[in-house]
Amino acid sequence: MVNEAQYRRAIEDSHYRQQFLDAVDLEDASPYISSLLYISDESKEAVTITIGGEKIDWPAPTMRLIPSFLSRLNMKWRKSKIRVCPYAFSEKKHPQLDDFLGTLIDHEGYHAKEIFESPETIAYPLWKTVGWFVGDEIVDKVDILDMIFHKFFEFRRSPEETYLGFLPQARWELSAYNNQMMKIGRRNFSQTYIESIKDWQNVYRRYIESMEKKYPEFFGSKR
Ligand SMILES: [Zn+2]
Repeated sequence: MVNEAQYRRAIEDSHYRQQFLDAVDLEDASPYISSLLYISDESKEAVTITIGGEKIDWPAPTMRLIPSFLSRLNMKWRKSKIRVCPYAFSEKKHPQLDDFLGTLIDHEGYHAKEIFESPETIAYPLWKTVGWFVGDEIVDKVDILDMIFHKFFEFRRSPEETYLGFLPQARWELSAYNNQMMKIGRRNFSQTYIESIKDWQNVYRRYIESMEKKYPEFFGSKR
């Protein structure tokens, strides 16, 4: 268990952050998370990205979920790791301890639970054949390869397919934000944090709705 004073200390003293993470109670997400690691060298800058033709200021990363390589191979019941970045300890992003726990447990923990129970959402069909030769620690490189892999196929895909390709991720994110919203009564979220969850819910909801309108054939009786 950690308290508000410890969270303040972690904001001010970056050397204390790993110790802080080690003391966090992961609550109902604990069966799905193997470790929390503080990563000090992540960027603190926002970048601009485009989703559904809309330019969005994508904030600096706060936390990254690192699935087990075995989850990538579609094996169930594998815990994920979470890497916590400096921006997670920003008062702009998480003014209060409960905001921090909301992202850690209600959002990333929710993703970890989904991967634990349904790894097919993130598994690589191609790699089922080669993955047996590599271990857990290669995950970072795997993520880079994943990006290259997708870029390669985007290049060969039609624009419609590329545009739709983001859908599973959008649905996946929206369900995690919905889960965070359901914890509002249980956690003492700041108003800033609640607004930011709503913003992200809207971004993904609008994207999914625009896809449904634009490509009704993908959403009709087939699904
Ligand atoms: Zn997420």
